[in-house]
Amino acid sequence: MATVSDRLLSRLLGPPGRLRLRVSQTLLGVPALGLMQLILLIDLWQGRAAPGPVAWFLGVSLAGCVAFYGLVRTGWSESLSREPSLSGPQMAFAMGCVLWAYGLAGPSRFAFLPLMPLIVVFGVFALRPRAVHTLAVLAVLGMGGVMAARVLGGDPLLPEAAAWTFQVASLASISVLSRRMARMRQVLQAQRTDLREALEQIRLLATRDGLTGLLNRRAMVERLQALTARHPGRPLTLALADLDRFKQVNDEHGHAAGDRVLQRFAHLAERLLGSDVLVARWGGEEFLLAFDGIDEPLARNLVDQLRQALRQGPLDGLPPGVRIDFSAGVASCHGPADLEQAIERADQAMYRSKVAGRGRTSRAEPSTVGASVHPGPVDSRRDPAGEPAQALATP
Ligand code: GH3
Ligand code: MG
Ligand code: MG
Repeated sequence: MATVSDRLLSRLLGPPGRLRLRVSQTLLGVPALGLMQLILLIDLWQGRAAPGPVAWFLGVSLAGCVAFYGLVRTGWSESLSREPSLSGPQMAFAMGCVLWAYGLAGPSRFAFLPLMPLIVVFGVFALRPRAVHTLAVLAVLGMGGVMAARVLGGDPLLPEAAAWTFQVASLASISVLSRRMARMRQVLQAQRTDLREALEQIRLLATRDGLTGLLNRRAMVERLQALTARHPGRPLTLALADLDRFKQVNDEHGHAAGDRVLQRFAHLAERLLGSDVLVARWGGEEFLLAFDGIDEPLARNLVDQLRQALRQGPLDGLPPGVRIDFSAGVASCHGPADLEQAIERADQAMYRSKVAGRGRTSRAEPSTVGASVHPGPVDSRRDPAGEPAQALATP
């Protein structure tokens, strides 16, 4: 249960996250401003400062703080600026307050001197180096102006000149540091991009087959395990397809032509079967297709459409008229526990297609897991023209 202080904190700073971070940053300057106001009040009390200007300063500085807090806390700053923490305007306002208070206060004003470099240091994290440089130059000029005015008004020259020199030195160092930080950030950013690209490359190498771009065997198993675990009751049909007499393709037309056939199969499978079908290169010239949410008859139909498309050619690197076919076995998978056996059943059915003459699709033996049981093995596919499809037929 949230304690009272937690709830108060949530009210003040907003819910944990980006907004709270922005609001906290906005409130960071409040103690320093409070200290300046206190010093001015003491100066006023001891007669070193005039009441009118001090009252104006107190009013404007408080109003500015409340306005920035309100804009950031309500989230309005998000619609007002591309930079919702309003760092630039807040820094400019804070610098104005320091200059103003320095002009009004007595000797204690020297205590305000570290505030100017501190404000610019914040800019190193929030702004581009050019903006930090501009802020530093404005700070130096502003301080120079206020100090010159004080000297002209009768204050001794040496303390003001010494203080200004230190301001110049520290602000110049901050400006140089901000450039170095920006360069380091650029290098880090580039390294992060390289790392992300390398990780993506590793992920691709680990999950994809280099020749066809299809899922590799391991990635397919992982996907299927996840799929069956997530939707155990949803129909899932597996089809194992093995190109017919593929060794002959290599022997007669060359290994490169064989590679292109494998790529063609992958391309057709991905193009024809759609996003509900996972396609993996299971082995050399074997492919596993997983039909998610698709029952066995429809899956068989889709496998046959794929066969038709492959048989129609044309096949890059092979003489016209050479037809490539495959033998397939389909099996329904009944949940995660049945996955391995379903693949085995599809493999056996594919083997029966080979024995029965290739170029066809066979249904698997009934599953021993799950309720939906199919009749025994049936050759489901012949060439639609009536001919049993020849594995590699050169007319
Ligand atoms: P079957 O109809 O009985 O399946 O006969 P097959 O010739 O297709 O089967 P076999 O197992 O005898 O030969 C498979 C061939 O697949 C042998 C191998 O050189 C070839 N192969 C495996 N991987 C690749 C590959 O990445 N590229 C090429 N071009 N050929 C491959
Ligand atoms: Mg094979
Ligand atoms: Mg083969």
